Formats: sequence, structure tokens, C-alpha cells
Amino acid sequence: MYSSSENIERLISELADLPGVGRKSAGRLAYFIANSKKEKIDSLISSIKNVSENIKRCKICYTLSDGDVCQICSNANRNKKQIMVVENERDLFAYENVGEYKGVYHVLGGALSPLTGVGPNELKIKELMMRLKDDVDEVIIATNSSVEGETTATYLAKMIKPLNIKVTRIASGVPVGGDIENIDEVTLLRALNGRLVL
Ligand code: ZN
Repeated sequence: MYSSSENIERLISELADLPGVGRKSAGRLAYFIANSKKEKIDSLISSIKNVSENIKRCKICYTLSDGDVCQICSNANRNKKQIMVVENERDLFAYENVGEYKGVYHVLGGALSPLTGVGPNELKIKELMMRLKDDVDEVIIATNSSVEGETTATYLAKMIKPLNIKVTRIASGVPVGGDIENIDEVTLLRALNGRLVL
């Protein structure tokens, strides 16, 4: 399958490398770009460049942020005493899209995986424990329901419970092995509301 232009073909190949974009969608995007006004494409390019050059990690929750502290951590209306632990910022984004959660987050940067050499030191666990020295009511563990996610949840619960902080785990409903980022909002909300005390 070839397109009518080598330039478009190159763009299709680049786009098809992006997660969740197959060759067919890549083709649709490439032709959309080819037919778009220059200003629209310039603005798209500048957004991409901006994210690639200027994004850093929030020094409190370690999600991606424009400044030293992200918009969620610096929002006075968010409950700082409730911390949801997620594997990555895509999971955070999934929960934010549900729109019901009013606490804050902690992004681990992955899940424990002894087989691939990801131990506690490779994740932001020390940083989480530091945060728990402040006044915290609840830690919600929202790692994925994969083996790694469950291992991480068990490990964290064991570390946190002696601090006399309530530890909960998002309920099933999130399918086993399912990535949080791919789960619909109703299921995520049900998993959050039905969370179990560990
Ligand atoms: Zn933050």
C-alpha cells in the first residue's frame, strides 16, 4: 500500500509509529495535515515542540507539569489528605477525565517487576513515604491489575499501614491485566467508589 507522494508516505510512517495509531489512521491524519491551512499546522507543531522542550516533573507528585508544581497539586480545592497512587501520568489523566476525584496523586513511574529489574528504588516510593509524613487521611492504590501492579499494591500497603494511614485499593471491575488508561470512565468511577480497605 503506497500513497501518492513520498513526502506523505514518510509522514504516514512517522505517525503510524505513535501509540494507538495504525497505518489507516496515520493515513487519515497525514491527508488531513496535507489539506490543512499552514497556520493550523504551525500551531500544532509549536504545541508538540513546547511539550517536548518545556515539560518537567512536578516536585510533589511527579506527574508532568509546566512548572515546579503541577496544576493539581497547586489547586487549593483539591484534598491534599487523600493521595491516589498511580503507575504513570496516563492513568492520572484517565482518572481526571472521570472528573469525580478531588484528592491529589502520586505518580510512581512504573510498577515493581523483579523480572525486569524494577525494584522499589526505581520508583518514586521513597518520595511517597516522605509525603506521608504530612497529615494524610487515605492512600488509594490505583496501580494496574497486572501481576506487577498487584505486587506493587501489596508492597505499598505493607509499607504504609504501620503509619496508621488508611490504605485502600481500587475495586475490581478494572479487568485483570487491564491498563487503566484503556478503561471506560464508568468502570473507573465504579472501581474508585467501590475501593476496598487493605
Ligand atoms: Zn503535582
